[in-house]
Amino acid sequence: MHIFQKGFNFGQDGPGNRLVYHLQGCNMKCIWCSNPEGMSISGGKYFSVDALLDECKRSRLMFYKGGGVTFTGGEATLQAEELLDLLKKLKEAEIHTALETNGTSPRLMELLPFIDYLMMDFKHYDSDILKKYTGMGNEQTKRNYEKICGLNRQVHIRIPLINGINAQNPEAFAFAAYLAGYSNPNAVYEFLPYHEYGKEKWTQKYLVSDGFVTGETVALFKKTFEEHGLKIIAT
Ligand code: SF4
Repeated sequence: MHIFQKGFNFGQDGPGNRLVYHLQGCNMKCIWCSNPEGMSISGGKYFSVDALLDECKRSRLMFYKGGGVTFTGGEATLQAEELLDLLKKLKEAEIHTALETNGTSPRLMELLPFIDYLMMDFKHYDSDILKKYTGMGNEQTKRNYEKICGLNRQVHIRIPLINGINAQNPEAFAFAAYLAGYSNPNAVYEFLPYHEYGKEKWTQKYLVSDGFVTGETVALFKKTFEEHGLKIIAT
């Protein structure tokens, strides 16, 4: 598997202390991406599934407070074949697994039985607007969301809030109305207010200007989601 970054992280990439693998390559090109070095399909360092499995097994003592292994990116599902193989082996070894995904993979449901904790982005309810800023529409992400809800399956939906792209007043209602249309008692929702931690890493022109949202905007989203019966969390 091609990996551009790995290391331990507590509480931000799934429960407990986790070994986080950032897999190289992404099918989206979000103009606000904080890991632009992971976007290109080529690059990263190659590790075999068995070498990673061995590293995970050796790290068991570090997986405290319900921790384990998280796959993120880039977009980890672009390496679905090897990812599936490793996820199965981790389950056999009784190691907790998590996936952070942009939700666009048609193979997500195939991976799902081997993922203990799923984090999935839902960046925009409007496919054309999403495509304008990320290069991809939301059709497959919606299909995945709807299937996951149909199964009452645990999912942690993450919504980046970016001024001028998805965080105006009526947009809170449109997000909530779509997401609440599929009931799932095991779904939670988190807002990720825009930040610029990755801006320095962009070698191409950084195109977001004035992406920051106010506390009032976040509060409005929170209130609107709660009014639609959606459970909000913060990590
Ligand atoms: S989906 Fe995530 S990793 Fe891919 S470009 Fe967007 S923000 Fe970056």
